[in-house]
Amino acid sequence: MAEQTETLSSTATTATTTTTTSSTPLKTMVVIGGGYSGLSFIQSIREIEKQEKQYKIILITREDFCSRPNLFFRFKFLQWHSKHLDYFGGIHLNGENNSFITKYGVDQVLFNTSVFDINNVEQVIKYKTVGSDDEISLHYDTLCLCIGGKAHVVNYPTEVSNEKSVIGLNREQLIVNFGEIQSQISNYLYIRNIEQVEYIHQLMKQLYDYYESNENNLDHNRIVIIGSGTLSIDIVSHIIEGYEAIEKLLNGEASAQPSKQTIEEVWSIKNTNILPKITIIGRGKHLGKSLLRDEAACDMILKLAKEKYGKYLDIQLETQVESILYSDVNNLAHSVKTSNGIIPCSLIVQAVGVNSETSLATKCLDASLGVNGGILVDEHFQIHTNNSTIVPNIYCIGDCAEITTQEGKTNVWKNWTSAREQASACAHHILSKKNSKLFFSQTPKFFGLHITCLGEYDSTDSNLQTIVIDEQIQKNIYMKFLFNTIGEQYQLIGALIIGPNMNEYKLGLNFLQLLKEHVYLPKAIINNTQLLALNFNINYWSKLMSLVKARKKDTPFETPEEIEKLLSELTAASEKKATPAVNPLAKKKFVNPLEKKKQAAASSTSSPSSNDTVHMLNISHKQKMSSLRNLIIFLSIAILVAVLLPSALAHNTQESSSSSTPSSSGEEVQKKNYNDDPSFTFDPHPFRYIFTDFFKCDGNVTAIRTFLVVLLSTAKTKEAKLALVAKQKDRFLDLLINSSEELKTQPQRVEEHKKEFEKLTELIFSVELETGKVCQYVYDTVFTYDQTKLGRKVVNSMEEYKKAVEEEQERKKKKIEEL
Ligand SMILES: Cc1cc2nc3c(=O)[nH]c(=O)nc-3n(C[C@H](O)[C@H](O)[C@H](O)COP(=O)(O)OP(=O)(O)OC[C@H]3O[C@@H](n4cnc5c(N)ncnc54)[C@H](O)[C@@H]3O)c2cc1C
Repeated sequence: MAEQTETLSSTATTATTTTTTSSTPLKTMVVIGGGYSGLSFIQSIREIEKQEKQYKIILITREDFCSRPNLFFRFKFLQWHSKHLDYFGGIHLNGENNSFITKYGVDQVLFNTSVFDINNVEQVIKYKTVGSDDEISLHYDTLCLCIGGKAHVVNYPTEVSNEKSVIGLNREQLIVNFGEIQSQISNYLYIRNIEQVEYIHQLMKQLYDYYESNENNLDHNRIVIIGSGTLSIDIVSHIIEGYEAIEKLLNGEASAQPSKQTIEEVWSIKNTNILPKITIIGRGKHLGKSLLRDEAACDMILKLAKEKYGKYLDIQLETQVESILYSDVNNLAHSVKTSNGIIPCSLIVQAVGVNSETSLATKCLDASLGVNGGILVDEHFQIHTNNSTIVPNIYCIGDCAEITTQEGKTNVWKNWTSAREQASACAHHILSKKNSKLFFSQTPKFFGLHITCLGEYDSTDSNLQTIVIDEQIQKNIYMKFLFNTIGEQYQLIGALIIGPNMNEYKLGLNFLQLLKEHVYLPKAIINNTQLLALNFNINYWSKLMSLVKARKKDTPFETPEEIEKLLSELTAASEKKATPAVNPLAKKKFVNPLEKKKQAAASSTSSPSSNDTVHMLNISHKQKMSSLRNLIIFLSIAILVAVLLPSALAHNTQESSSSSTPSSSGEEVQKKNYNDDPSFTFDPHPFRYIFTDFFKCDGNVTAIRTFLVVLLSTAKTKEAKLALVAKQKDRFLDLLINSSEELKTQPQRVEEHKKEFEKLTELIFSVELETGKVCQYVYDTVFTYDQTKLGRKVVNSMEEYKKAVEEEQERKKKKIEEL
């Protein structure tokens, strides 16, 4: 076993960075863990550093794929070999076109590498890479532990029982040792990473294939999920969404996802009766209690799950698992013995929680653990030792860290929004000594319900004012708000908002802002206005936020005059005509140059209701590709633009004089004077690019739509058009947010979208835009912007698009095989 000191190794992925370096030598920042907190931390460091790089960053991680938050999308879209193909829930860190590593100037990345020692006196870590016995030492100036968690596993007894056996699973064909709880039982698992999700998918496929020709023998065609918390509900609701999609497709419903082709390629599904049933076994009385912490909310979700999904789902609460029954002939589990009886099944998944990864810190740093089992850190994310000292130059964030909360308690917030917030706060502290307050926020979507959990939403402190809105519980709408009160002043400290509509989701986003603003509002606002109203009014909230932000933190609106003014301004704002939740473009009457069929498709995809979760405007960066969705989206845009074009040209009354477009960032955007060319035709191609980026914003579709509407409008002067852009912007952003799955889970990114939009506005309006032909200019500018800023690959035809996708798949496959 060799011991070496690290130099930039040839096997490591290295990247160039666009930031400049200062004259002082760079310090070395080592980040251990390439999960969501590690990557967010690197992103934050680079963003705060801006142009002047202070750190050389080295990322060391056991994995090469950051996927945890969206692992189960795999089930929803049911694509085969998702990791190799279209898995869009994660960030591939590996690969030569690696946008994250390049974009954030990570100087060196070591995949499949474990750090096993930290010497905080000499500031040296030691690591080993899979496939090598070498132990390599590496110096750090600053170290960030982002080592996450591991599945919590309960060792239920196992019993040999050979009188039954699972038929349909071919053990030989299974990849064994993927999170198996008992190494001898290959169909009894936990889930922690994409490989395990893939494995489950393979098992499900084998079952389907078997039962398709043995339909009278469906007894064991069942998956048992042990656990009734967030993880369990997450996996189950994704599988069920997949089932629903299949059902829609088989019923001939047009909007079904995934496509028929995908379903046929993946499972050849023809009959939904053969899809494995699911049983959730929970010890407790409630479903989802660990997250919701509210019995009425849990009961509402349980009722919905039973009523709506009873066909696929059986929920057994207050049930104890007694043992796992398996056959030692084929080493497969076939039943779960519970306090309620025996449940025959073919696959058992334990989803009973996550434990923080702590051993490295306890072993090497004498780190003290918090009551929730995480590495105890102070408000600056520095580790407490058992001797009550703080470990210098080492920080710790994410699932492994037990942080000190606002309320002075400690907790491990195991969700990705918190991982990201901690990453940003920690980076700010390191680089600028700026301290940020952390707020718990988690916004999952289960069984079609948007759930927003904010702050301290489960406090039983009798001094707090709790407001519960449950009149519409039958419609699955439930809200709870907790306020700290001082006299007639209320300060939000927590909220739980659940509902099937985007309104509830939007309320959640706005309450998060309110929580962060830490503002006291007069009782009059809480009682008499739309603050807690179910019919979310964006005008009201925009006004409230602008008024709140204009004030100093912790300064209440106090005097009667102030309160009266506030109320009247809010009333006036809320009485402004509410933005209709339909696409304004759809109202325009255009001559459609395309076939009627396409027009129908365009109109059906261009008018989402506020409750609609169709991804119409969502050009998600997350989808490593989600090619299908992208295709649909781009087709919609293309059709839309084609629909707009004739009208655009009809407005072509003035000449444009501009010939060059300096971008806001100083880059030259290549442009033409479209009006000079009489043969000009506007030809936006639907397959303009494929996605290679995860983090950046995709306000482009919004931008295109907005600008086209503006350009086609009767506003003639630049000022008038700009005014129109400003007016349309909120409305379009609102639509974008409504239809973006990703923004629902990343509320903080709404701000990013807004900023991207502003930048594009600046860019586009840096030339004179006066003719219809300028539509092409807008289109090109947006895509050039995408290319230069976001590093996307442009393709110009369906063939090229398919080829690019295939090449990408091939490349990834090779890379994985190499590994
Ligand atoms: C199956 C599943 C589904 C989830 N779904 C959601 C969801 O829908 N919404 C949500 O908000 N949250 C969800 N979560 C939780 C969320 O994903 C986590 O809170 C978040 O990913 C934590 O990020 P992290 O970077 O702290 O940890 P992790 O993602 O666990 O990353 C830690 C990384 O550190 C590496 N590592 C550990 N030790 C070492 C070492 N010694 N040397 C080198 N590398 C090391 C690991 O290999 C890993 O890559 C889910 C979690 C799981 C397991």
